[in-house]
Amino acid sequence: MIEAVEGGWWYATFLANRRLAVNFYSDPDFMPRRLGTRLDLWQQMVGETRFISRWIESAGYQISDPPRIASAGTVWLENAAGPDWLAVGDAAVSFDPLSAHGMTTALWTGNEAAEAVALALTGHGAALDSYAARLRLGVEQYDRERRQIYAREIRFTHHPFWQRRQKPIDHRA
Ligand SMILES: Cc1cc2nc3c(=O)[nH]c(=O)nc-3n(C[C@H](O)[C@H](O)[C@H](O)COP(=O)(O)OP(=O)(O)OC[C@H]3O[C@@H](n4cnc5c(N)ncnc54)[C@H](O)[C@@H]3O)c2cc1C
Repeated sequence: MIEAVEGGWWYATFLANRRLAVNFYSDPDFMPRRLGTRLDLWQQMVGETRFISRWIESAGYQISDPPRIASAGTVWLENAAGPDWLAVGDAAVSFDPLSAHGMTTALWTGNEAAEAVALALTGHGAALDSYAARLRLGVEQYDRERRQIYAREIRFTHHPFWQRRQKPIDHRA
């Protein structure tokens, strides 16, 4: 289940081991201080959601641990290949989780990389550079799609979390 709120969005799912995973995606400047050690604050934040909290309650679950804080930002290598190496999957580019691009990109880059290596081994010197260029195009396309996805949420356009995601990614970051 996904729920958009003013300062970000929530994601909750059942895992194979019957545990419940609850994530909140936001920006560091909107997160309460020391949230990673504050179970009470985390429970309060979950409690303030409209759908996620009801869903958790109706399934008979309780939030028993504070959250682990981790970066889920979009990062990529400007150049995903060199003379005798290339990067694939998350090592080359990791996308905003809302895009759900992680698995498909891992598979796509795996395929593309294998073909590039095969070509390079048969004397096509530009194959690795061409792979890196295709990846850069993929990042640009993702950037456009990401803005379209975030633009669909029209209730919170006043909030910087949503405003920031209307701007192209800063390629110098
Ligand atoms: C909580 C969570 C939820 C996600 N949900 C989704 C989703 O719903 N849909 C989606 O598309 N994507 C999702 N993703 C993203 C997706 O899982 C990743 O983008 C994808 O798995 C990347 O694949 P990869 O092969 O590049 O890297 P990984 O899957 O991370 O594989 C890298 C492997 O290399 C191993 N390794 C690391 N270092 C070494 C070393 N030195 N020697 C040997 N092995 C090493 C690691 O143990 C790991 O097994 C999610 C990610 C997370 C963390």
